[in-house]
Amino acid sequence: MRTRGPLSLLFATVLLLGSGCATPAAPAPESGTFVDSLARMNAIAPAYVKLVLAVGQHDKDYVDAFYGPREWKTEAEASKKPLAAIASEADALIARLQALPEPADEMQRLRKSYLTRQLKSLTARVAMLGGKKLSFDEESRALYDAVAPVNTEEHFRAVRDELDRALPGAGGAASLVERYEAWRKDFTIPTEKVDAVFRTAIGECRDRTIQHMTLPPGERFTVEYVTQKSWGGYNWYQGSYRSVIQVNTDFPITIDRAIDLACHEGYPGHHVYNALLEKNLVRDHGWGEYTVYPLFSPQSLIAEGSANFGIEMAFPGSERVEYERAKLYPLAGLDPARAEEFDHVRRIVARLAYAGNEAARRYLNGEIDRAAATRWLAEYALYPRDRAEQRVRFIEQYRSYVINYNLGKDLVRRYVESNGGTPDNPKRRWEVFEKLLSSPMLPSELGSGA
Ligand SMILES: [Zn+2]
Repeated sequence: MRTRGPLSLLFATVLLLGSGCATPAAPAPESGTFVDSLARMNAIAPAYVKLVLAVGQHDKDYVDAFYGPREWKTEAEASKKPLAAIASEADALIARLQALPEPADEMQRLRKSYLTRQLKSLTARVAMLGGKKLSFDEESRALYDAVAPVNTEEHFRAVRDELDRALPGAGGAASLVERYEAWRKDFTIPTEKVDAVFRTAIGECRDRTIQHMTLPPGERFTVEYVTQKSWGGYNWYQGSYRSVIQVNTDFPITIDRAIDLACHEGYPGHHVYNALLEKNLVRDHGWGEYTVYPLFSPQSLIAEGSANFGIEMAFPGSERVEYERAKLYPLAGLDPARAEEFDHVRRIVARLAYAGNEAARRYLNGEIDRAAATRWLAEYALYPRDRAEQRVRFIEQYRSYVINYNLGKDLVRRYVESNGGTPDNPKRRWEVFEKLLSSPMLPSELGSGA
């Protein structure tokens, strides 16, 4: 989280807009109502940012990124506004937004509904911090504007049966998760080669992304390796088109993680999403609300969903396994002849992604305890015991956030494909995807047209 000079200047522009002044970067005013509505939303934006920073004083995970004026953060730290005051100020901002006439301009309309929904999510998080209890589905609807489908054990058992046939050692004493873990050892990147493999994968993901979209000049990120985290990787957006990507090395890293992490955290995932929001919304439109990113908010479903779907964007069809076999397996010192075997199993296991939601739903609803949640993850999501324990820690820390990865990916795919971005039309596919990464879209709006 850093502030840089040019963004402080930009916020000065936002504040000026709040006084009714025009800026060359803003859309051309069409009417008095448009100008008034624009000015009033520009005035609400800094108040929203400050409220998000205020919540961050009560919740260390809440502010995922902030690159607005540094003094706003200092003020939030100094005042530590009480939760009740935050809630009533958020309600007042929502009332101001709802009193605005419905903008005729599509982007302004989306902006208004986005700001309103983000604020409603903020009040839900504030209520939770104040002790309010919500069920898993109530929480995900309140925070992320979405509810994940329910899947039964039978659904996951069918996938497990398929995996049972694909893995060696059927009929032996070892459990399916033990067989899966033993088999995966042959595909683990040796520690000393992780960085080279990961950097090569990042370079490839970036090359594939810039073939289809223009990234802001000077965008870049640094990679750090960390331990003792509940997540596998994390992108910390710094502003000015820069990210710090952290990779957790607590557990052995298998070859598929290189493309997963490079696309998800980097290109065309989180790093690109944040950079495009900064370029298109903050700098070009002067929308200050995007200088802050509250983690527990609808924005996260779009962020995680687009980051996960971004893997398929960069590597459609069989291109992923072809690239891994040709470049990453040799670089990691692994046997390229086994790339298809690994990819086949990876695709089966990917269909168990929703099993993690069920463990989280039951655990957070109080239907099962910690040990049962760990067992469920091993049984149906194929997490070995130590990773299952790590995942339960993730669930405890981030709660219903887990739906953003798999449901988010499916919603983003549906949005892209229903707007003409089918796999046989890559040009349109990238256009729709880029538009999503540059718009104030809400999860519940993903069913509507691009
Ligand atoms: Zn992510």
